[in-house]
Parts: sequence; structure tokens; C-alpha cells
Amino acid sequence: MPQRARPEILFPLFAPATALKGVGPRIGTHIERLVGPQIVDLIWHLPGGIVDRRYSPNLVDLEAARVTTLELTVTKHHAPPVANRRIPYRIDCRDDTGEITLVYFHGRADYLTSALPEGEKRLVSGTAELYDGKLQMTHPDIVAKLSERDNVMRVQPVYALTEGLSQNVLGKAITGALERAPVLAEWLDPALVAQREWSSWHDALTAAHMPRELSDLDPASPARMRLAYDELLASQLAIMLVRSHVRKQAGRPITGNGRLRSRVLDALPFEMTGSQKTAIVDIEEDMGSEHRMLRLLQGDVGSGKTVVALMAMLTAVEAGRQAALMAPTEILARQHYATIAPLAKAAGVPCVLLTGRDKGKARAAILEGLAAGDTPLVVGTHALFQGDIEFDDLAVAVVDEQHRFGVHQRLLLAEKGAAVDVLLMTATPIPRTLMLAAYGDLDESQLREKPAGRKPVKTTTASVDRLEDAVAGVQRQLDTGGKVFWVCPLVEESETIDVAAATARHTALRERFGDRVGLVHGKMPGKEKDAVMARFADGVEPVIDVLVATTVIEVGVDVPEATVMVIEHAERFGLAQLHQLRGRIGRGERDATCLLLYGHEIGQTGRERLRVLRDTDDGFEIAEQDLRLRGAGDVLGTRQSGLPEFRMVDLEAHGELLAMARDDARLIMDRDPGLESARGDALRTLLYLFERDAAVRYARSG
Ligand code: ADP
Ligand code: MG
Repeated sequence: MPQRARPEILFPLFAPATALKGVGPRIGTHIERLVGPQIVDLIWHLPGGIVDRRYSPNLVDLEAARVTTLELTVTKHHAPPVANRRIPYRIDCRDDTGEITLVYFHGRADYLTSALPEGEKRLVSGTAELYDGKLQMTHPDIVAKLSERDNVMRVQPVYALTEGLSQNVLGKAITGALERAPVLAEWLDPALVAQREWSSWHDALTAAHMPRELSDLDPASPARMRLAYDELLASQLAIMLVRSHVRKQAGRPITGNGRLRSRVLDALPFEMTGSQKTAIVDIEEDMGSEHRMLRLLQGDVGSGKTVVALMAMLTAVEAGRQAALMAPTEILARQHYATIAPLAKAAGVPCVLLTGRDKGKARAAILEGLAAGDTPLVVGTHALFQGDIEFDDLAVAVVDEQHRFGVHQRLLLAEKGAAVDVLLMTATPIPRTLMLAAYGDLDESQLREKPAGRKPVKTTTASVDRLEDAVAGVQRQLDTGGKVFWVCPLVEESETIDVAAATARHTALRERFGDRVGLVHGKMPGKEKDAVMARFADGVEPVIDVLVATTVIEVGVDVPEATVMVIEHAERFGLAQLHQLRGRIGRGERDATCLLLYGHEIGQTGRERLRVLRDTDDGFEIAEQDLRLRGAGDVLGTRQSGLPEFRMVDLEAHGELLAMARDDARLIMDRDPGLESARGDALRTLLYLFERDAAVRYARSG
């Protein structure tokens, strides 16, 4: 079957930007840095502002400090004396009603005499001001011949720039790019276009680059809505094409007989929550079907995801196959192992832990067990991906905190077995909109109920000026046998500075509380970290009661006895991260308190964010509020979340279009999964236009 490639009609857009007139290698480099290397990248660079150059009064009527375009006669040049570079080059001009002086600092005489010859008329556009009662204009934006009136006296788009590019040069490059934009067959449903009164893609693109007034810059303007919808449709369709391809690959139905699962259920000291039970049923259905499972299990820290995952894993073992759980950090892997190992033991199922620390003979033995199939369960870190790891028959891969793994790594694990069922887990709930944008219709289970006996953590906020009060609070906790987490600020970019801050706090608290204060940070060797954690969490002597930490404790580490968490400069953390941190405490019998200390530089939004945290303990609610307060791109870190990087879409403004695009894509998949119809053909072009080339290949050829 011939590979279909990018349609020829798009070739002009997929040439390097340097193919444009006026764009040489140097400007090409700047353009690449700003938008990307190709001409198509320029057409997606929409204006961020406008300048209205239509105001064109006589000089006598001119309002100063306003952008204006004047028709002037050049009367006289006054070049500065060669010896004094600080005096500007001045050019007197007039119209029938008055006079104005153009002022150029470091003006080049040769350029100015040719651009503004004495005795001739020119259009001059810029901002005039009154200086000593006289009109002058310093460095006009545009000087042009009268014949260029239409081009000058208009509303001009203003583009975001990068160093080395001027508005003029970039504007011309974009105009050149737009001239190459072809008229394309309509890929949208005609009924939708009619209902929304949208214009064609080409016209919408042109309009988006020719704003007439400020409202044309609004993401909700018709032209921008149309372009955003196009991109969302391309993205949703691409996700569905890939997903349907994956689903079609023969899955191996796994049912199991419940023998191991019932043993574990008997061994559990608690009753599963309703949402845990529902999630398990969902997963068992996925595994029992012909399709491969790809399901996301979302739930706050402590909502009980690990046991749910274990049930999935045991289902595979009952069917005589293997299961792996991988976590993004050593600490997390150990924690999962600590939960799973005793339960596996109760069921009589061998289970091992594999991390980067396992070396030599010990590692070889683990590998042998996995390859031979003697070890049905394994918990580990990235170490599980390594090339020499083989499974006898891997059926289920559970990936915890999946957004912290690269896409590549996730795929590698899935490749370790034939038609592996994948369960993704996250304790950072993804807001609905982002979820849809990133994954389309991914199957999902949510653990929204908290396990019985969990008490909400009391959360308070205070200025760092109240540090002394916080220390006094720590004293009271220690007096009554409590344990305290003290989290130090995160300074992005520099782990060294984080460590310095934590070390300083450690020293200060030791002066007050002595040897029962410990320190753990990301730069410590793993063994040392473990030792400190053991003294804090497991009561290993000499016991630590106050643990100063950087964010290494973010995920993982359960310390039921910890009753207080102090977070310094809480405004510097993400909401989800603060919520994760807070989830570390309040697991035990005693009431727990979280104290968020904020610095002086906290702004309005910062305060609001901390308020959200104070008012709710629901991770899903927090995620939605976080999205509202911060905007989509920031919530998870675009790249980390696997969120596609949109060019035309602003999820806050265009969220409404997302569900429409999803439904639209679904309908297309139902009716024309091979994209064989006339509209299907146009849709292929759309996919190529937004560079979803890989997905087009999965459109079944009929
Ligand atoms: P998560 O992985 O979602 O952060 P875990 O699975 O680690 O949460 O569970 C946290 C703790 O709660 C574990 O000690 C686990 O044994 C316990 N737990 C799980 N489910 C329940 C439940 N339904 N009732 C009480 N405790 C539970
Ligand atoms: Mg967990």
C-alpha cells in the first residue's frame, strides 16, 4: 500500500522560512528562535496588538502623543556637527497649516537625504509630541512615498518580537508567508460553519492577521475561534486515530479466577471504598476484553490507588502471567513495594523490588526470575526499562505518576510484553479540560472517596514574619509526642540554593530543638536519605522528630505520626504540589495541621491560591481552581503532562470548542475511519497542516 505523504498543496508552507523574500540566514535564525523554522510557523504567529495609523489631521489640529500619519513637505535638513554625536539630526517639514521637526539621534545622513529629500512630499507615521511649544516627532515608525498611502494609513498588526527582529521585518515575512497560504477544501461540517458564521480557513487566517480593532485580537473573535477549532479537531482526530490503531492490536483477554484477589481482600485490614470497588470492576472489564487496556486511575495521595493496582496485577497472575508497577522515584517505588509485598506474601505470590541501586549478583538474580517467569510481580523504577530486562509473559504494566515519565519511557515498558495492558496512575488530578485536550477520550477511573478514618488536615496561612509562632507551635507538638515536617522553599532552576535554604533552617531548628532535628534533600545519596527517613518514619534510633526537607518528600513517604507540616514560602510551590505535600500528614489518630507561610512578595493570585488550599481538601477541586488561576500551560508543565502544544488554542477561551471537536472527531471515526470521503481527504490535509503526520498513517486505507 503506498504511503500517503503530505499533500502537495501544503508544500509552500512547509519550506524553510528563508525561502521567503527578505529573509536571509540571519533573519531566518531569529525567526526560527521566535516561532520555528518553517513558513507555516509564521502563519500561526498571530498579532498581539494593533496600531491605528488612520489618524491624519492637518498639523494645526494635531493632538500630540497619538499615533498619526502626516502628509508633509520636507523643507530643510539640519545635520549635526560631525564633532558632536549627541546633537540629533533634525529635518524641518511642513504642511499648509503648520510645521513639525523630525528628530533622529545618530541619524545617518545618506539614508535620511534619500528617504526624505528636500522639497518633496512624504508620508510620515509615528507619534508627535510638543517640545518647547513646537511639534516634533522623534524617530518616525514609517517614512513612505505618497503612493503607498493605502499600505501605511491603516490599522497595522503588531507582533511579538524577539531580539534582532523589527516589526517591519517580521511583518513583511508574515505577509510573505500568508501569500503562500493556499485555499484549501473545507474540512469542517458545513452545518457547523453555517451555524457559527465562520469563514473559510484561508479567510479566517487572513482576517486574524488583519485586526481592525482590539476586539479582533480577542481569542473569542470569529476568525480566531475558527482557527482554534481547526487545531482542536486535528488534535482530537489524531488522538482517536492513534488510539483506535492501538486498540485494534490484538489484546489478550485476561480473566483470572479470583483466587489470589480474594486472599488479599481477606488479608486487608480495611474495607475498600466504593470508588475503589468501582475502579477495580472497570479495570477487570478492560482486562477481560479483546482490546488493550489504557486507563487512567486518578486519586489524591492516600486515596488507595496502590491496592487497586495490586488487584489488576493479581488478575494477571491468576491467569498465569506477570505484572509490573513502576514509579518515578526510588522512594515511591519502595513505598509501593512496602504496601504490596506483605499482601502478595499473604496471597503466596513472589514479588520483587528492582531499582537502580540493585547491582551485580542481586540484580542478575532478579532478572533471571523475571525472564523465567518465576517472579510474577515486580515493583521498580526506571530500572525496569533497561534493555536487558526481559519478562517471560508481561500482561499488565502499572505506571504511577505517569506524567513524570517521558512518553518514550512509557512506550518502552509497554513493549516489554505482547499487547500489554496499561494502567496509568496519578495523584495530580488533571482538570477535565486538560484531560480531554491531552488524551481525548481516555478511559478513566477516579478515587474521590477518602478511605474511612481519614481526618481532614487543618490548614492555616500566615506571613513568614510569624515564623517564631510556627516554631512555638512545633514546640507544643513535640511536647505532646507529635512529629513535624518542615518543608523549605523551592527555588526553581537551582537545587543548590534549595539545599542551602534547607540546611540553614536545619541549623536554626537544631539550635532550638537539638539532635531530634534531621535533614533530607535531593542532593543526598540515596542510602543517607533512607537512613534519615527511617529515623523519622520508622522510629529507628536516634529518632528524628522534626524533619527539614526540600520537596523530595513530595510524593510517597507516609508517616502516620506526622501531625504538623510547615511549608515556608508556600507561594513558590504549585497548588497541586502543596496539596501533595499536605497529603503526607493526617494519616494517624491525631489531628493534623498544615501551616503555609508566605513571603512578602506574594501577590493577589498567590493569596487566592493559598485560600483555595485552605478551603478545600479535594484534589480534583484544587486542580480545577489551579487551572482557573494559572492558565492551562502552567498547571502541569506542558511538556510533562503530555499536553499537545497548541498554536491557535487558548484552553481557557476555547474550552467550549474542545468537547465539540471531540464529538466531531468521534463522528468522523464512526463514519469514515479511513478518511476516504471527500471530507476525509480535506481532513487529511488538516492533519498535515497541524503536523499530526504520524496519526494520518493510522487512517485505515480502504
Ligand atoms: P495512594 O497510592 O493513592 O496515595 P495508597 O494506596 O498508598 O494511596 O494508600 C494509602 C494508605 O491507605 C495505605 O496504607 C493503604 O493501605 C491504605 N488504604 C487503602 N485503601 C484503604 C481503605 N479503603 N480504607 C482504609 N485504608 C486504606
Ligand atoms: Mg501511593
